[in-house]
Amino acid sequence: MRKPPNVLLRAAVGWQAGRIADPIDRLRFLRHTLGDRCVWDPRSEVGRAFFHRRRASMLVALSALLLLPAGTMTSASRLWKRGPIVVAQAGNTGPETLPNVWQVESNAGFETYSNGLRIERRYEVANETRKYRIYRRGFEDAGPAGERTDPSGIVFHTTESNQPEFTENKTKAIRRVGATLLSYLQQEHAYHYMVDRFGNVWRVVRESDSANHSGYSVWADNKFTYVNLNRAFLGVSVETVTQPGEAKAQATPAQIHALRVLTEMLRAKYKISAADCATHAQVSVNPDNMQVGYHYDWASNFPYVAVGLPDNYSVPAPGLWIFGFTYDPALVEVTGQAFWRGLLLGEDQLRQNATAHGLSVAAYRKELEKRYRQVLSEMKTKAELSKENKG
Ligand SMILES: [Zn+2]
Repeated sequence: MRKPPNVLLRAAVGWQAGRIADPIDRLRFLRHTLGDRCVWDPRSEVGRAFFHRRRASMLVALSALLLLPAGTMTSASRLWKRGPIVVAQAGNTGPETLPNVWQVESNAGFETYSNGLRIERRYEVANETRKYRIYRRGFEDAGPAGERTDPSGIVFHTTESNQPEFTENKTKAIRRVGATLLSYLQQEHAYHYMVDRFGNVWRVVRESDSANHSGYSVWADNKFTYVNLNRAFLGVSVETVTQPGEAKAQATPAQIHALRVLTEMLRAKYKISAADCATHAQVSVNPDNMQVGYHYDWASNFPYVAVGLPDNYSVPAPGLWIFGFTYDPALVEVTGQAFWRGLLLGEDQLRQNATAHGLSVAAYRKELEKRYRQVLSEMKTKAELSKENKG
């Protein structure tokens, strides 16, 4: 492991990074000079200088720069020009062990599972039977590679609903709000599951059916690309709200536990790879302006590790490098550093692939967009194309 750079160097590097307009060049520069950890940790000096540079003290950074040993910045600057960085492609996680979970009890009111999961069925409702096409990665415009009826992944959402204060004397209000929400979700066929604030797991739409949770969306693993995930993926929503202006939602410890046992059960039942578990912010795209991040629930702060998954925020955003989507820089101002990292890595992957194809980024992106339009044109029903709820 590289020795952590000292505070002055980090401040200086952060200052210099702030002057590099291109995000990928910035990423390369920062990765080569500091390694990953410092760059993306908002608590670090560089994190602060990098993400809030307008508020950071330029004077301190500048003084630090002047105090640096001669040659330090020159060699650092040369390093990042040495060539493309190598990033892992989506889903390259190697062999993985799926959880071993089985059903213990099932009746009209609830189900229980061997890992302690209990699913409440009072609001369970049917919808259209799931059936969807999958595309071989890199050959999406060659037509579907097959059809599936079992879910291939999980998308995590936030309900963005009313949140009474989480205290004992508000229990009645919390329950009342939760029940109203569940009725609404049931009516809208909004998700497959909702985890309420006490950590109860409610099935809304049956697993065998599609739910209106992700609308226009894209994800990929190391073999296949999935487009519009209402059918392809299960939607699991957490009863929580994104903090205004921060894009930061919180899950209670009870909800994290529930998400963990629910995810384990679903992965065991449908052999879902950990690489196919992502948040709505990570999968959401807008075909009208070809930008990702139309929805930004769990753009940061999803407790991947606590839920028993790898930190999939580090996966290069598939929308960017598979279909040439871009992102609004304003988006990264309101979302988390983790999410930004996925976008930057996605963009970097795009650039590497463009180079490998001997095309400019713009020309390569055009080709990818054509590929995306081709897939969309094959979607037959309106439901397949766009149905989604607000959360
Ligand atoms: Zn959502």
